[in-house]
Amino acid sequence: MEQLITNFHLDHENHWVADLECGHGQHMRHDPPWMERLWVTTAEGRLSRIGTKLYCTRCDEWIEKISKATIRECKNLMLKAYEEGGISGLCAEGRWELALDSLNNFDPKNLKP
Ligand SMILES: [Zn+2]
Repeated sequence: MEQLITNFHLDHENHWVADLECGHGQHMRHDPPWMERLWVTTAEGRLSRIGTKLYCTRCDEWIEKISKATIRECKNLMLKAYEEGGISGLCAEGRWELALDSLNNFDPKNLKP
């Protein structure tokens, strides 16, 4: 996912890190011949990159983690409601409706990573 660069800061080893709007950071090293980013060595160069976008893989990882946890929690809610509907003597259609209604109880605070 692309994120805007909001600022830069130096890390504890004096390497420049781009601060992204998502809260993540990304090292911007000038280490020729491996990495050519001469622009990062000057204040003007860094300033010219503020407001441009960088791809944030940490956001992608986070979204995947949250998505999987959300699906897991929804399945748990639905299975529990379906079972309870069966114990209460509901027909298959009633159990299915109960399972769907259980999604209204979804609370992101219950997500487990
Ligand atoms: Zn991010």
